[in-house]
Amino acid sequence: MHLVVLPGDGIGPEITAATTDVLRAASKCFQLDIRIEEHPVGHESLRQFGTTVRQGLLETVRAADGLILGPAATFDFKDEQSGEINPSKYFRKNLDLFANVRPARTYSGLPSRFGAFDLVVVRENTEGFYADRNMAQGSSEMLVTPDVVISLRRITRACCERIARAACQLAMRRRKHLTIVHKANVLKIGDGMFLEICREVARGFPGLAVNDILVDAMMAHAVRQPDRFDVIVATNMFGDILSDLTAELSGSLGLGGSLNVGAHHAMAQAAHGSAPDIAGRDIANPFSLILSMALLLAWHGERKGATRFEAAARAIESAVAAAIEAGLATKDIGGTLGTAATGRAVVEILASGG
Ligand code: NAD
Repeated sequence: MHLVVLPGDGIGPEITAATTDVLRAASKCFQLDIRIEEHPVGHESLRQFGTTVRQGLLETVRAADGLILGPAATFDFKDEQSGEINPSKYFRKNLDLFANVRPARTYSGLPSRFGAFDLVVVRENTEGFYADRNMAQGSSEMLVTPDVVISLRRITRACCERIARAACQLAMRRRKHLTIVHKANVLKIGDGMFLEICREVARGFPGLAVNDILVDAMMAHAVRQPDRFDVIVATNMFGDILSDLTAELSGSLGLGGSLNVGAHHAMAQAAHGSAPDIAGRDIANPFSLILSMALLLAWHGERKGATRFEAAARAIESAVAAAIEAGLATKDIGGTLGTAATGRAVVEILASGG
């Protein structure tokens, strides 16, 4: 398996190094024959090549079997024309990675104030309110006068259908329950269409239980009783916000792993950002990216019919759970280890056979 790794900004290089340590160990234990090709993105690429995503990188990624993208300091990047491109948007849009799958679960040994739960947010990834990616050309955010801004949201039948189908398929492999999160009471046309299409697609999955919840109320329900949920489908921004909440409910944003999936490509990416407040201090939780990488291995294994990749993914998830239970973790989840040592703890658990 040929993987491109792009460490990114802030805590990106630290959590990426811990992730590639675990990846190399898994490759050895499960004979995955993984080849890692690393390139800079974000500030480091801007410094070296005058752009946050240098030319040719897309073709390199297209030719590979998968991508691991570290978080980027996207708030810093103001002007695409000067090469300040949001790498996350760039790969999601150009590789058409329409589904952002963000699992969140509690772990034994990590006390949860909200009770045990295990859910997945499936977020539409290519349109919605994200003005820098929902147009074929240009941005859907406009400065009408110096004091007036218009931001447009795009919702299309095709994107609603494919995200609904991805969520239903996942729910059928889990506890067969789908929750549609929307704001159709206010965004009557756009979210009305999203809701209707999700219901329509779900009718094609016999045995699937379906309910829907308004996004504002969902924030309360997710905190009050997260174990009510199995698979949750949402439009882009609502899913983004909700999944940061569910990651934190599980113990920390630093546990928030995710996979961006399209028809032909996939990209592992932590749900959080570059965390400049803790960067360079060896305290960032690497589990978010390690768990994202495990999702990528499982995706590859399923596609290729190569069960050893799925076995490796399960072993990595179990090793993370075992490390958490043993307190071998960073301080955001009550441990005392640094980022690198936490990665090494997972490597040791993997190497000892679980
Ligand atoms: P953030 O997600 O980086 O951090 C929010 C809080 O969570 C911070 O207190 C941070 O220390 C903590 N946190 C995040 N990841 C952690 C980890 N692995 N371990 C422990 N604690 C962790 O959000 P922010 O500070 O609002 O954004 C910082 C930068 O990241 C901005 O430039 C933003 O635009 C960018 N961003 C990038 C992505 C991406 O590349 N996918 C996503 C979101 C935000």
